[in-house]
Amino acid sequence: MLIVHKYGGTSVGDVERIENVANRVAKVRDAGDHIVVVVSAMSGETNKLIEYAEYFTNEPAKKEMDMLLSSGERVTAALLSIALQAKGYDAVAMTGRGAGIITDDTHTYARIESIDPTAMQEAIKEGKIVIVAGFQGVNKDGSITTLGRGGSDLSAVALAGALKANKCEIYSDVDGIYTTDPRIEPNAKKLERISYDEMLELSSLGAKVLQSRSVELAKKLHVKLYAKSSFSDNEGTLITQENENMEEVLVSGVVLDKNQARVSLRGVLDRPGIAAEIFTRLADAHINVDMIIQNVGMDGSTNLGFTVPQSEHQHAKKMMETFEHDIQGVDFDENVCKVSVVGVGMKSHSGVAATAFRVLADSNINIQMISTSEIKVSMVIDEKYGELAIRALHEAYELDK
Ligand code: ADP
Ligand code: ASP
Ligand code: MG
Repeated sequence: MLIVHKYGGTSVGDVERIENVANRVAKVRDAGDHIVVVVSAMSGETNKLIEYAEYFTNEPAKKEMDMLLSSGERVTAALLSIALQAKGYDAVAMTGRGAGIITDDTHTYARIESIDPTAMQEAIKEGKIVIVAGFQGVNKDGSITTLGRGGSDLSAVALAGALKANKCEIYSDVDGIYTTDPRIEPNAKKLERISYDEMLELSSLGAKVLQSRSVELAKKLHVKLYAKSSFSDNEGTLITQENENMEEVLVSGVVLDKNQARVSLRGVLDRPGIAAEIFTRLADAHINVDMIIQNVGMDGSTNLGFTVPQSEHQHAKKMMETFEHDIQGVDFDENVCKVSVVGVGMKSHSGVAATAFRVLADSNINIQMISTSEIKVSMVIDEKYGELAIRALHEAYELDK
């Protein structure tokens, strides 16, 4: 059997923890299976590197950032390989380039275009444990690229797909996917399994336990994906195809995303093409726009609101100021958050959204924006009520039962 493991920052946070990972990996090899291990940088390391760069400027060149950020993962890949070799195992550490990962040119948020697994396959054939630095690849010109925050999850899934691995296990400090972040709601329950689509919603709505791109790719490549803990031997959660039983469960989870800022545009000239211009400009700058609300226009103008990640808020602000002829005023609110309810059961049941609105109303929380899809309801509210809202929703849908 060929298994891919991925260990996140907390799991490789210091040398003792790297030793713990080495022992877990060695056990798999002892059992006769082949293993490829993807590692993150030590916890806090990537943030520290970003801070170093921001000492000099708020807008460091993205190409240099990739050179800088990719170094964190190389440190852990090399250390894990050294730890395994010290135990007498045949291990080899590879960078993203070494593992054959080719991406596009979008520095700091690159897309994987292809993987040539030959080098990994040869090492596996020789009985080696292959350790790969996560979160990185190279573009066609050979420059180092990174895959967006949390991108080691994506490296792991992509390698599992390219190597046709039997399964891909993502190890972190939680032993699976819970009905909500157990740090917010201690009564959260671990799910035995969850569909790719629900997991994709949870991840893209803010549950950072798996990077959303990695879930998207796992679905596309049919990778058998597990979320597990590197600190226990508990059963994890299987992320898999939707089956009929899943629809019996109305709501699978609730998510809080604090990384949101609301942008409100007042007096937007109500003419064909204005929305296209605004959002094309934002898209070209790789600013991820989430919820969008436009009011019905009156007297030739309208109001438009949308949310962006907090880190993009200054950038979005500058961009909107270039529309001075078409927009009368721009307001920002960083003190907002998004709470979301996710479940495939919503497809076949009504009233899920109404319940969510009622729960927030009963807690005296004002809803500023709403958006829904087939399997989710999201609401933007005041940031200070975020955790309260999550706990109230968790209880209302009986997720603790
Ligand atoms: P790593 O650093 O290993 O990649 P992350 O910090 O990215 O790990 O993800 C693990 C964290 O995700 C947990 O500590 C937990 O607080 C958080 N989390 C958020 N939502 C959930 C959820 N629904 N189920 C489990 N963990 C969650
Ligand atoms: N080290 C990177 C980050 O912190 C990638 C990862 O851990 O997956 O975002
Ligand atoms: Mg992560």
